[in-house]
Amino acid sequence: MGDKFLFANSEKEDADVCIFGMPFDSTTSFKPGTRFGPNAIRDASYNLEFYSMALERNIGDIKIFDAGNIGFHTKPQDAISEISKRTNDLLKNDKFIVGLGGEHTVSYGIAHAMKEIYKDIAVIHFDAHADLRTEYDSEKFSHACVMNLIGSEIGFENIYQFGIRSGEEEELKFAEKTNFYPLHKYDTTQILEILDDLNISKRTYLTIDIDVLDPAFAPGVGTPEPGGITSNDMFKILNSLKKFDVVGFDVVEVNPMIDVSGITAMAAAKIVREGILNFI
Ligand code: MN
Ligand code: MN
Repeated sequence: MGDKFLFANSEKEDADVCIFGMPFDSTTSFKPGTRFGPNAIRDASYNLEFYSMALERNIGDIKIFDAGNIGFHTKPQDAISEISKRTNDLLKNDKFIVGLGGEHTVSYGIAHAMKEIYKDIAVIHFDAHADLRTEYDSEKFSHACVMNLIGSEIGFENIYQFGIRSGEEEELKFAEKTNFYPLHKYDTTQILEILDDLNISKRTYLTIDIDVLDPAFAPGVGTPEPGGITSNDMFKILNSLKKFDVVGFDVVEVNPMIDVSGITAMAAAKIVREGILNFI
């Protein structure tokens, strides 16, 4: 266990989906430990069936390659650079990307490469936090700034944010520029309605910060924020996202060091299974 995802049954050349881990957590000053996230999600995958009852599909029918983890970096720019290179190579080889975090900073590396290759992309973001800061602990390349970094590159109007229930006044000024659906105004029922009405013609990247789930469903996160959605809500939402041209997704911020009974890693592993089955 730990070295590859349960469902990974293919070599790189044949695979339609490529999973890779990003064990980076250097800008997480409060409770680091998401560097252990990717392998914890892999371990948790061994508890899952290949068959999804909800989707009536077997993930064993999909060709998946687990490329392992990127190297360990302490400087965010180094992690971002390796992630971008790797993503770039995979996209050129027509792979669907599944990234396992790691703190949220890593998603910038993937989005950056997608923008390079596809020029015009949209990003759908699920999180408890807006992540729109321009700087955090004097660092621009931070988990708290990731959507600001991505928005500055792809255009804030191409970002769709759901589940948000925490942000400071200054960063929320940027939320006026994104498609911003905070959880106190838009709960799961309304999110599903919005997604139903929404048309995004661009290739779309999906980034899921596991703390979008309520701390009861995802206690193993660096910055738990009460009042989140349930795991089951997340699966329903994933299902409603399949109408978009999703070219990859990530699940980030799983911190096994402070998880309880592996609940958070388990939720993340199932999100990976259901996500792949929805989008491929
Ligand atoms: Mn968060
Ligand atoms: Mn986040």
